[in-house]
Amino acid sequence: MGKATGFMEYERIQTPNRDPKKRTRDWFEYSLPMPEKDLTLQAARCMDCGVPFCSVGMEIKNGVSGCPLHNLIPEWNDAVYQGDWKLALDLLLKTNNFPEFTGRVCPAPCEGGCTVAIHDPAVGIKSIEKAIIDRGFAEGWIKPEPPLRRTGKKVAVIGSGPAGLACSDQLNKAGHSVTVFEKSDRLGGLLMYGIPTMKLEKEAVTRRVNLLAEEGVQFITGVAAGIDISVGELKEQFDAIVLATGAGNARDVHIPGRDAKGIHMAVPYLTQATIDNLDHAGKQTLSAEGKNVIVIGGGDTGADCVATALRQGAKSIRQFGIQEKLPELRKQQNPWPEYPRTFKMDYAHEEAEAVYGHDPREYLVNTVRFEKNEVGELKGLYAVDVEPDPENPHRYQDIPGTEKFYAADLVLIAIGFAGTTSDIFDNFGIQKTERHTIDAAKGFYRTTEERIFACGDARHGQSLVVTAIAEGREAAREVDFYLMNETFLP
Ligand SMILES: Cc1cc2nc3c(=O)[nH]c(=O)nc-3n(C[C@H](O)[C@H](O)[C@H](O)COP(=O)(O)OP(=O)(O)OC[C@H]3O[C@@H](n4cnc5c(N)ncnc54)[C@H](O)[C@@H]3O)c2cc1C
Ligand code: SF4
Repeated sequence: MGKATGFMEYERIQTPNRDPKKRTRDWFEYSLPMPEKDLTLQAARCMDCGVPFCSVGMEIKNGVSGCPLHNLIPEWNDAVYQGDWKLALDLLLKTNNFPEFTGRVCPAPCEGGCTVAIHDPAVGIKSIEKAIIDRGFAEGWIKPEPPLRRTGKKVAVIGSGPAGLACSDQLNKAGHSVTVFEKSDRLGGLLMYGIPTMKLEKEAVTRRVNLLAEEGVQFITGVAAGIDISVGELKEQFDAIVLATGAGNARDVHIPGRDAKGIHMAVPYLTQATIDNLDHAGKQTLSAEGKNVIVIGGGDTGADCVATALRQGAKSIRQFGIQEKLPELRKQQNPWPEYPRTFKMDYAHEEAEAVYGHDPREYLVNTVRFEKNEVGELKGLYAVDVEPDPENPHRYQDIPGTEKFYAADLVLIAIGFAGTTSDIFDNFGIQKTERHTIDAAKGFYRTTEERIFACGDARHGQSLVVTAIAEGREAAREVDFYLMNETFLP
């Protein structure tokens, strides 16, 4: 344990971020490294509380509490406090294949379960995780480590998001020959095309993929499994197949005027911005420049659209959410150690406030129809105010007489995802759940078809990078057991 009384002596220090206004003029990461002296004090705040809820990663009331990877948080906090960064790295890599991703983009359910957070702001766990892995790369401690022996077994992993990459990493470590098929032109799934560059610079993704390739994982891009290579061919060439195809089935709004020119789904819009930054020197093809933008959807993907439109020079931005504003403090029904459902200023909202002078979020708003001109171009939308349905507090009902018109040249739809794309069920002959996810029980990861496994958002439904990594690791263990009748994978 670091310092017994550290949590009483030192305050939480947030990861420093770049100036919110200035950073909207570029696409570089918005967060800055935390100085080492601050990190040591943060690590000293860990009270080594005996039952570290930060590490449990259990689902409570449809939300995750604690780290789904069961990261050894008190242990690496102590190592950082003692100044033993190499030990901290070794401990971190025992449970997390890719801390450089989670240290940047994880919403840190660990901090919601931190015991210090019962009375005080939580230990800055995510900042410490990021610092450990960044130091590991900077010191040259992270080197390719190919397995010492090969088992002769071959596994095809379909999809190169965090679930597919974690699964491949584990199976490769176990000595199996892994080939990853990715339908996109670049590897990384939503880490590459989805999560914007200012949250996660793409060099970090490429660096990790290159490391896996040096360790022996084979990558094939531009091939849609089940279409460009048949399931029969995959079964002939591989001993097992893992579907890590994500939750690409985006939800749309089915209201009048949806066909107006100027309405786009969030992920293709965000993907295009990344492609333009990587391939076209930042010249934006689908740009919000000079436009009035409305983002439909109050979640994190919507926030990424706000931050992207800001960088493209939008004239104005509104973000509509159907739910009410979250409270500043936990409600009684949302006690520790549940994930705190409290109001947060995301990076995008901080930036919008700095540029436009106000938070772009508007709550309890439901879009009812789009308005277009005579040539089919979007002019704006009509929306109504809503209120919670007294019969069912999870549903909202329109308030009559509240309809208003909002001018817009660009509307971005970010209202979530409903499982994996239909071609996966059609081509692989596997069963789906009611939520349109792949039917494969957690802990087993076996689909209804022999030799075919599934993990990540494709199985779990839309989730987080940390959950996808955890699913990839657990699925790898099941595949290893299936192939070898025993497994030494964690
Ligand atoms: C815009 C956006 C921002 C997000 N931001 C965050 C964040 O900040 N923090 C966080 O924790 N989570 C975030 N998430 C969620 C997180 O990215 C996902 O939960 C995670 O990436 C899921 O990982 P996965 O490997 O299961 O799937 P994905 O990352 O979706 O990867 C699936 C891959 O499979 C490929 N594929 C699909 N079908 C085939 C096929 N037939 N053949 C070959 N390849 C195929 C796809 O092209 C894709 O590359 C965000 C999600 C979105 C949409
Ligand atoms: S992966 Fe996420 S939940 Fe786990 S320790 Fe890191 S920030 Fe916390």
